[in-house]
Amino acid sequence: MEILGETIPAGSSRRLLWAGGQAFDGTPGGSPVLVVNGVGKGPTLCLTGAIHGDELNGIEMIRRVLQDLDPGRVKGAVIGVPIVNLEGFRRGSRYLPDRRDLNRFFPGNATGSSASRIAAALFTDIIRHCDGLVDIHTGSLNRTNLPQLRADLRKAAVRDFANGFGAFMVLHSAGAAGTLRRAAVDAGIPAVTLEAGEPGRLQSAQVREGTAGIVRLLDALGIVNRMNLLTEPRPVYYRSTWVRSDYGGILFSLVRLGQSVSTGDILGTVTDPVTNSQNLIYSPVRGRVVGMALNQVVMPGFATFNLGIEADSGPSGSLMENLEPPPEPVGAPRQPAPPSGAEPDERPE
Ligand SMILES: [Zn+2]
Repeated sequence: MEILGETIPAGSSRRLLWAGGQAFDGTPGGSPVLVVNGVGKGPTLCLTGAIHGDELNGIEMIRRVLQDLDPGRVKGAVIGVPIVNLEGFRRGSRYLPDRRDLNRFFPGNATGSSASRIAAALFTDIIRHCDGLVDIHTGSLNRTNLPQLRADLRKAAVRDFANGFGAFMVLHSAGAAGTLRRAAVDAGIPAVTLEAGEPGRLQSAQVREGTAGIVRLLDALGIVNRMNLLTEPRPVYYRSTWVRSDYGGILFSLVRLGQSVSTGDILGTVTDPVTNSQNLIYSPVRGRVVGMALNQVVMPGFATFNLGIEADSGPSGSLMENLEPPPEPVGAPRQPAPPSGAEPDERPE
């Protein structure tokens, strides 16, 4: 395999460096790229982490997956880029040094802004070699996510790829323009975003669950053979909706990540610190808390709880046909306005 100007012989692994437009002239270095080139024919799976520099769980997932691979028993190849946004990582920041969000610039432009150039370099140097991509993220901006995939389930190749994770929560979403996932899918490379936990932390349960899903994917793609005797359970598809606070104040959650909720259940309270008036946030649907804001001070309109609603996928399924929450039942408690879906910046990927 030829990558980053190096030849990786079959049955070997290498640690390379990717400068990716992030280096200053004359300074050596770059972001590590781990390559395991197997002995047999098979697809190349790519894993990317820390496109947002403060999202740490994926760095550890990529380490665990790559360390456990024996090149002599791999068919195809696995390429891991644990820290794409090296400067953001060093500063503990989601963003690039110029405050741009790298995950809005793919597939990039080699003569554009610095974000655009880094995106183009990653796309050209690494992503074009991939037959499938898992881009790993966490919740953003003081929010946390239950381990979940984001995938454009209208596309059969993406759906098959997501199914390789076995029993995993999958949220249908086309992906915002400029995200690596969207750009890869547009380039014909099946891709999903794997979300797990919150930024700025390393969380063992989330890392374990994400790593297990990726290992099942390696098996499903034929890259490794775990010789399963049992059929893997299928993923569970969800559509999701954000519940916004209509009030400003101090948010306290009354639900846990992963908890099931019914229509009208109280999700949290928002208390005005000056007038002491307290407002409740109700669930507009029956579903499951798949993402949520950590306790903090919020402004009116802040997206507080991401609720997943189980859905079937496919042409006859409810996933594509019923993207709006069910109508409010008559006589139900006062409820927030029907969520209109998150703005791109409230999507953690
Ligand atoms: Zn992210």
